[in-house]
Amino acid sequence: MHYPEPISKLIDSFMKLPGIGPKTAARLAFFVLSMKEDTVLDFAKALVNAKRNLSYCTVCGHITDQDPCYICEDARRDRSVICVVQDPKDVIAMEKMKDYTGLYHVLHGAISPMDGIGPEDINIPDLLKRLQDETVEEIILATNPNIEGEATAMYISRLLKPSGIKITRIAHGLPVGGDLEYADEVTLSKALEGRREV
Ligand SMILES: [Zn+2]
Repeated sequence: MHYPEPISKLIDSFMKLPGIGPKTAARLAFFVLSMKEDTVLDFAKALVNAKRNLSYCTVCGHITDQDPCYICEDARRDRSVICVVQDPKDVIAMEKMKDYTGLYHVLHGAISPMDGIGPEDINIPDLLKRLQDETVEEIILATNPNIEGEATAMYISRLLKPSGIKITRIAHGLPVGGDLEYADEVTLSKALEGRREV
């Protein structure tokens, strides 16, 4: 189908988003055309601002508009516990639960030999750096309950064993193969409460 160039560009842009195929992209593009110009401008500005003003916390790797992030900066948080997660979205899921008062460490991925992702490709070296000041007493491994998440948890627990720091893994009960970010607050709260030393 031949669209005028501005529309095909818009469709192409929507198709860069996850889960958006050509049909949905075309529907969204035509919807944008029907929107008020002000609304479209606000939308475009929100996209650019989010990209320009957000980066990753240099301490924990969470997404933030200040560095260190508000969690790392918060003096009321328990600095003796670090919860290790795969993705910034997992931090948001954990924070919604409100039961956890420690700090986080975001790996930005999981070990996956099939995809060529090794320990050096995720944010593990920074985690080791954070453990050098000896305030950390417990590391909670909250990687996803799938093959990659389990392999990552096992790797980190082996790596940290000699340090003598208590290492725990959140309980099963999270849907196997499911991502942490999709777990509801009660399930997540129970998984955290039922964590076991590994
Ligand atoms: Zn942080």
